Parts: sequence; C-alpha cells; structure tokens
Amino acid sequence: MNNNSYAPIRRTKIVATLGPASDREGELERMLRAGVDVVRLNFSHGSAEDHRNRLRQVREIADRIGRSVAALADLQGPKIRIARFSHGEVELEEGQPFVLDMELGNEDGDIHRVGCDYKTLADDLSVGDRLLLDDGRLVLDVDAVRGREVHTHVVVGGTLSNNKGINKLGGGLSAPALTDKDREDLQTALDIGVDYMAVSFPRSAADMDEARKLLGEKGREIGLVAKVERAEAVADDDTLDGIIRASEAVMVARGDLGVEIGDSELIGVQKRIIKHARSLNRAVITATQMMESMIEAPLPTRAEVFDVANAVLDGTDAVMLSAETAAGDYPVETVEAMERVSLGAERERSAQESGHRIHQGFARSDETVALSAMYAANHLEGVSAIACMTSSGYTALIASRIHSGLPIVGLAHSAVAQRRMALYRGVVSLAFDTSGMEAGALNDNALALLVQHGLTRVNDRVIMTRGDHMNAHGGTNTMKILSVTADHQGR
Ligand code: PGA
Ligand code: MN
Repeated sequence: MNNNSYAPIRRTKIVATLGPASDREGELERMLRAGVDVVRLNFSHGSAEDHRNRLRQVREIADRIGRSVAALADLQGPKIRIARFSHGEVELEEGQPFVLDMELGNEDGDIHRVGCDYKTLADDLSVGDRLLLDDGRLVLDVDAVRGREVHTHVVVGGTLSNNKGINKLGGGLSAPALTDKDREDLQTALDIGVDYMAVSFPRSAADMDEARKLLGEKGREIGLVAKVERAEAVADDDTLDGIIRASEAVMVARGDLGVEIGDSELIGVQKRIIKHARSLNRAVITATQMMESMIEAPLPTRAEVFDVANAVLDGTDAVMLSAETAAGDYPVETVEAMERVSLGAERERSAQESGHRIHQGFARSDETVALSAMYAANHLEGVSAIACMTSSGYTALIASRIHSGLPIVGLAHSAVAQRRMALYRGVVSLAFDTSGMEAGALNDNALALLVQHGLTRVNDRVIMTRGDHMNAHGGTNTMKILSVTADHQGR
C-alpha cells in the first residue's frame, strides 16, 4: 500500500440536514467551512420557500468559499402517522386497550382511541400484528380488526402525542412510495435545482423507476437516492439489488428500518446494504442517530464515536446528520466531530485495502481503466493522487469503489458533475475547463492544478485517466503515469 507524507484528506463525506438550527445567523457558513459536503433539504418539514431560500444561501456560500456542495432533496414518503389528541397527548398504560379508528375526527383522539392519516391501515393488519409507535417507543399488539377500527392492547406504554409515526414490525404496509405531496415536492425540488433526490420507503425497483419517470427530461441529471427503510426492501437480495440498481445511491435509513426489522437485524443489514451498493457501483449514505446526543451536547458519546467509525469501516461513502444539524444546539461541533472520527477510522489499514471486483471480469472500457488506475496507484511507489478527467463524474465513482489512501481527483467542467462527486468517498472534485486548452497541454494543466491544490508535489507521480474526446460521457480509455516536474509548479 502507498504511504505518503501529505496531511490526510477526509474521504468519508458528511451529509447535513438543514433546518431552524442551520438558519441561525452565520451558522450555515460555519457548517460548510467545517466540511459539510452535501446538504439535505428535508421535505417532511418546512415550506417550499424555506427549501428554496436555504439552497440559494448554500450556493452563494459554496461559491464564495470555493467548495462544491451538493443538495439532496428528501421526499417525505408515506410515513404513516396517527392523528391528533384533543388534549395534545395521552399516557398509555401497559395492558390497556387502545383503538386506531380510521373514522375518528382528526383532532378527537383520547385515552381510548385516535385517528390515523392512512385510511386503509385496517386492511393491512390482522390479529397478532405488532405496531410500533413513535420510533418504537410504544408498542401495540393487534387483537381484532373491526371494519375501520383496529383494536389493540398496549404492550409498552408511555406518552403518545400528536402525529407520531406508526410502523408495523416485519413491514407489510401497502402504501405506495410516492404520495400526492411527494409529487408536488418533487416538482419544487426540480425547480429549485437539487443534485440528488431521495425517495422514502420504496418497496421495490418499480417505485424508483416511477420517481425517475416523474423527474423527466428536466431532472435527467438528478441522482436518485433510495432510502432503504422497509422490511420488504431487505427481505431478499433480489429486491435489495433491484432497488440499488434503479438508483444512483442508497441510504441506510436506520430510523425506520430499525423499527421495522428490529435492532438486532439492523447490524448485519447495514453491512449488507453498504457491501451491495459498493459492489453494484452505487454510492451509499449511512443515516440517523449517528451523533444524536450532540443535539444537546458539544461532544459525542463514545458509542456515537464508534458508530460513525464502524460505518466508515463498513465502507460507507457518507455519514448523515439529521436533527443534530437541523434542530440541535451544536451543528458546527457535530460536523467537526464527524470529521475527526472519520479521519481516525480512515487511518485503519482495513479502510485502505480493497478486494473490490478482484475476481470479476469487466465489460466496459471506462470501468476497466478506472479500476486499473486504482490498482496502479495503490501499488506503485511515489504516487500522490489519481486524477480522472470526467464529464459526468462516473469514472471517479467507479474508481472510488476501490479503497485507497490516495485522493481521487475528479476533474470536471460541469458544476453539476462536480457537485455529484461530493457524495463519493475519497473523491475531491475540481473545476477543469478544457475548452480553451490545446490537446497537448491537458495533462500538464491538470498536474499544475493538482500542485496548486496541494494534492501532489514535484517528483511525485499522478495516475491520470481520460478519453480521447474530453466531453464525451463513457469515453475514458487511457491511463497514464505522469511525473510532476518543477514545470508544473507556479504555472
Ligand atoms: P427520515 O429517514 O429521517 O426521513 O425518517 C431516515 C430514517 O428513517 O432513518
Ligand atoms: Mn425514515
């Protein structure tokens, strides 16, 4: 393995959810400066105007500080919720009966019953099913389904307040992934110009295909992210792989997924999703409660440190912050803690070694070149970076499926491609406009840019990949081993 004397760059990317906390004066800029790579606009909260204003600010700050920051719109999806209580909340006691009544008025819940926003819930349930409310804090077992009423008894009690979520243990709620609200929000997201869009609760590849169709020609360059958060999605490899293939990236959405499959299953499933996503050439985000205690504290717990570190060791591209940055007291400290922990985990040897596709044949020239470049870079002495001239960022994605200690520099002309690469582990994207360059000067100009950014130095080597025609997608067919000379300095 290659070892060099450069200050390590953080390879694992940080996704931060925006919200009232990041709206505080100066907070967003401090967060981006602290290292946020992707901002998440959570369409479960806030208005179209909130999202539009936040993204406008992100673009303005990113331009000003010279960073490529991607925007991820996260659609709410069919999160099933109870309606409201006439007094705001009730205290459920273990053993007491409780009814979910599809016909009850929206504000009329009491200690005996409450309404539900998903009117066909009764059709999806039968005697013996277990319902988890408020992220599993309360548990109800179904005793009978009578018309539009689901009769249960309380297994684990506690305070139940307005609009809390409902999951069914083992999955099996039939709500389609894209609601009417999602269809509207999808248009808003298109309109405000996001780079990635997350679909919540997809059941299979068909839900992702539908989202792709709704994005249409205008959303051609938006990367779809499948949030894996239903038991059905991970029930067998065919379903999971189908969902991954139908998306540009996936999210291990541990909040809902953990409730549906139980925390004991979740451990192996996180590893399986990350492994499958990487081997199918997709990016993967690990999400939810990664630094949960930092909503109220300036330092993470040891358990959180190790949770983030383990996701990094599992091979995730990105780690995500939710309420920590959207509604917490310490957004910047949380981003800093994630950076620190990621760097620590990345120092481990196992994070830098790779057996990716080592025993597989390849079908595409560009993938073959990208993977060969990584093999060369990881084994040849004196290499300080891999540089991929790329129109869409695809070569950098393929290269980044292989673990390495060296930065993969994505050189792209389009700002869209640069932002797309913000999600890929180990990839640094730089603006590289070849339109005014002589063909013979491309390599030297690229090396000069890397020197300028401190990614390589005189007497080092850089492994370069490119195609014959600079702006053709999929055209990468060349790998070159270049030497950096004094000539590349101060160009
Ligand atoms: P959410 O998705 O935060 O939108 O619920 C993530 C998860 O379920 O983990
Ligand atoms: Mn969720």
